[in-house]
Amino acid sequence: MAIIPTLTLNDGNTIPQLGYGVFKVAPAETERLVLDAFEAGYRHIDTAAIYGNEAGVGAAIAASGIPRDELFITTKLWNDRQAGDAPLAAIDESLEKLGLDHVDLYLVHWPAPDNGNYVNAWEKLIDIRESGRTRSIGVSNHLPEHLDRIIAATGVTPAVDQIELHPAYQQREVTDYAAAHGIKIESWGPLGQGKYPLFDEQPVAAAAAAHGKTPAQVVLRWHLEEGEIVFPKSSSLTRMRENIDILDFELTPEEHAAITALERDGRVSAHPSEVH
Ligand code: NAD
Repeated sequence: MAIIPTLTLNDGNTIPQLGYGVFKVAPAETERLVLDAFEAGYRHIDTAAIYGNEAGVGAAIAASGIPRDELFITTKLWNDRQAGDAPLAAIDESLEKLGLDHVDLYLVHWPAPDNGNYVNAWEKLIDIRESGRTRSIGVSNHLPEHLDRIIAATGVTPAVDQIELHPAYQQREVTDYAAAHGIKIESWGPLGQGKYPLFDEQPVAAAAAAHGKTPAQVVLRWHLEEGEIVFPKSSSLTRMRENIDILDFELTPEEHAAITALERDGRVSAHPSEVH
């Protein structure tokens, strides 16, 4: 079985750099697909309350028999639970569905800045971490202005920021901020969610041919070499196996740079200012 590299977060905890994400995995299929992911060698699962499939993730964890300390489980606080003490109830509901007494990483899913509650949400995540219900805390879809505010208000820097990122949309202003503040980047939509024709780009296709790998494997390898955490989604065991089979080759510096040069401001999903 593949040995997945780990990264050390700014709180000293470690995270597997490669996992399996379950956005848009139907609740009824989640247990089976997460068990497939475990079979393929994944131990890091990325879910969220809004995905509606935490119970399926929990069922797979229970059925797998894999020791809890070999798993890394992330879930996220949805936008309508940011105010007041709502985050404290929300994590308990997520843990109940997951059948766990703690997650490894709990994230504020979006800043939803028009609602005005993301600083409160961050303060409550700090309390949740202190209560032991999550080992690490972080954010998602936060831009530098949001990160500045939560860090200034609490003195606590998120362990990760999970943002849309792929070769055509690299969000360098966020990644530069994260590097300067010791925040690890988790890249969602690492394959462009299938909405951006990444696999047809010449540097991706050329590197795939040179290494006997698929274009998807080349793009995922680029992410790992960028120092990011990724959890591509697939409903096929064959592709799950393909997406984890990226640890036995390296892009040459020229190949890596040519893929980096694919930046096109090619955002495929919502901007943080649009999600409430
Ligand atoms: P992704 O970039 O992982 O793309 C998934 C698409 O790529 C699917 O259509 C799948 O069929 C296809 N695909 C997967 N493997 C392939 C392969 N080997 N060859 C060809 N096609 C392949 O997009 P995603 O699912 O949106 O992102 C991954 C994870 O990120 C999600 O499951 C979720 O956990 C997380 N996410 C988080 C947020 C957020 O706001 N925090 C938003 C979206 C996704």
